[in-house]
Amino acid sequence: MSVSAKQLKTDFLIIGSGAAGLLAASRLAPHGRVMLVNKDTFQDSSTWYAQGGIAGVSSGKDSIESHVRDTLVAGAGLCHEDVVRAIVCHGTEIIEELIEIGTMFDRKGGALHLTREGGHSSRRIAHAKDATGQAISKALLSQVTPHANIQRLEQHAAIDLITSRRLGHTDNNRCLGAYILNPDGNVLTIAAKQTILATGGAGKVYLYTSNPHAASGDGIAMAWRAGCSVMNLEFIQFHPTCLFHQQGSNMLLSEALRGEGAYLVDHHGRRFMFDYDEQGELAPRDIVARAIDHEMKKQGADCMYLDARPLGKAAIVDHFRNIHARLLELGLDMTAEPVPVVPAAHYLCGGIRANVHGRTDIAGLYAIGETAGTGLHGANRLASNSLLECLVMAD
Ligand SMILES: Cc1cc2nc3c(=O)[nH]c(=O)nc-3n(C[C@H](O)[C@H](O)[C@H](O)COP(=O)(O)OP(=O)(O)OC[C@H]3O[C@@H](n4cnc5c(N)ncnc54)[C@H](O)[C@@H]3O)c2cc1C
Repeated sequence: MSVSAKQLKTDFLIIGSGAAGLLAASRLAPHGRVMLVNKDTFQDSSTWYAQGGIAGVSSGKDSIESHVRDTLVAGAGLCHEDVVRAIVCHGTEIIEELIEIGTMFDRKGGALHLTREGGHSSRRIAHAKDATGQAISKALLSQVTPHANIQRLEQHAAIDLITSRRLGHTDNNRCLGAYILNPDGNVLTIAAKQTILATGGAGKVYLYTSNPHAASGDGIAMAWRAGCSVMNLEFIQFHPTCLFHQQGSNMLLSEALRGEGAYLVDHHGRRFMFDYDEQGELAPRDIVARAIDHEMKKQGADCMYLDARPLGKAAIVDHFRNIHARLLELGLDMTAEPVPVVPAAHYLCGGIRANVHGRTDIAGLYAIGETAGTGLHGANRLASNSLLECLVMAD
């Protein structure tokens, strides 16, 4: 929908409609009018692309303490432990809520099928095949469309925040809304009582990235210009296994493939991960990404390979249906041959400094999801903790 009036008013302006923005919209709608804008479509978000799943302690063999410990270890001593505890303890509740609103997580014998990813000491990842992000997005979207209190504006790009200081007031700085570029090329002034940045990460700054086009760090830039502090921007997580292929350069080969038994090999078919870490392919993703990069440099190779054949054809076709189908379109059959991979920019561990509720340095401005830096991830995110963080912050 495109709007023509150049000055609009709302109670809550939410910029971004990934997991964080969508859940925030459905939570805020009972309290006032919500305007939900995104730069492109609802599919152009990292949430839509997420494959592996969402972490939460759902099995009797697992514990919150163990999830906290794994998060702290992956974060290399730089996580804020109070934030880790505050987020991780909501895993089960968030997963149950997603199920209630229609997310079809995989099940086995009636119970949730939990998968394991690098750095996790237990199986604790709820997933919907290998397209968890789409399943979660569709369920969250069903809560906001249609909704009498929510106005959705697609292809509307926020370009800057409106603050009291910018308008010449010298007392406490407060966010008053944002300027938004509409598809007709007009700049709308949207006045809002509360503005929520849910603009995702910044992977598009890099040549190889798993992120969609929208992930260009806009929210962080706007918040910085408005006077917010930012943190840990140097901690970019590289996903070890992005497809190395001209037409599919941002396609991710989910960590769950290695969790289920796929190997990393060089072009001679030699497994090399145990040269780097005793957990082999299940080492945290920074170790795996560095090992692949090291082998590429040592061997003068353009890529390494992910060999999924140990899983067997039936498991690949069942659990990794979408990845398998997309690869077939590109002429690669992962049931029959190893697939070429490179590390790629995947996740921004830092962001706009915010607390677990998204509060930033500026009154009236919140940052939630990947654009926020809460301290959960420290120097390195534990796989599948990010969707959890988005939803806990938006809740
Ligand atoms: C390929 C891939 C796989 C992943 N797999 C997993 C996984 O299995 N488990 C997990 O926990 N995490 C995973 N992640 C990370 C996770 O998906 C993201 O961290 C999370 O979805 C971010 O959600 P978000 O709501 O913060 O932002 P996003 O989902 O990225 O949404 C950002 C929104 O902001 C909008 N936007 C951006 N700039 C502007 C602007 N200037 N104006 C208006 N709108 C704007 C975009 O249009 C979009 O709607 C994966 C990420 C990728 C890329």
